[in-house]
Amino acid sequence: MKIFLIPQKASALVFDMDNTLYTHDEYIRFQIESPIKRLAEKRGISFDEMKDAVAAYRKKHAEENRGAQLSLGNIFKSFGVSMEETIRWREELYRPELFLRRDRELRKALLRLSARFSLGLYTNNPVQVAGKTLACLGVEDCFPVIVGLDTCLVSKPSELSLRKTVELLGADAGSCISVGDRYDIDLALPLELGMGGILVDGVSDVYRLPSIFEDAGFCL
Ligand SMILES: [Mg+2]
Repeated sequence: MKIFLIPQKASALVFDMDNTLYTHDEYIRFQIESPIKRLAEKRGISFDEMKDAVAAYRKKHAEENRGAQLSLGNIFKSFGVSMEETIRWREELYRPELFLRRDRELRKALLRLSARFSLGLYTNNPVQVAGKTLACLGVEDCFPVIVGLDTCLVSKPSELSLRKTVELLGADAGSCISVGDRYDIDLALPLELGMGGILVDGVSDVYRLPSIFEDAGFCL
């Protein structure tokens, strides 16, 4: 975990979902590889060729942008897949129920946090996939606000969808903290807009957040 900033006036937490609210390498890999497989079928090439082309595009972008990472949705856009199509593919392909189980420790941590903060989920998955994922984890009632890929039809990082999340939480940027596992996707823009930021290595870091906030002077 790396804490970048916890503003004392924080009243809302904006959570990333994948690799933040759960840690499951196989499911993360499935979420990357299954749409690449579909794109390969669409272009009439092999999965390995498509995977190599995506990796090469990712590498070139990072080299030209001081190492910055791209979301898969934005990579797919440059391969001619519209955001609407990406959303449809993910809704059809992703089956969180095959990989994820209820997480009582996560639920306990989120309930403690929700006593003090408004909780929002801000994800590059469609809202429908987010709902199914939260239900698998047993925390679907912990997030009154969900902003997904289909809310504004843009992929994170995006000022448009980030500001939408903040607005739905009834907060302002300076009183929100972004919590996520990828600096370039989840933290860089929020920090630039004056939000707080916490980089996590996975869900075990989310379990620790209540005590982190208590240590920072918040009463939960
Ligand atoms: Mg993530």
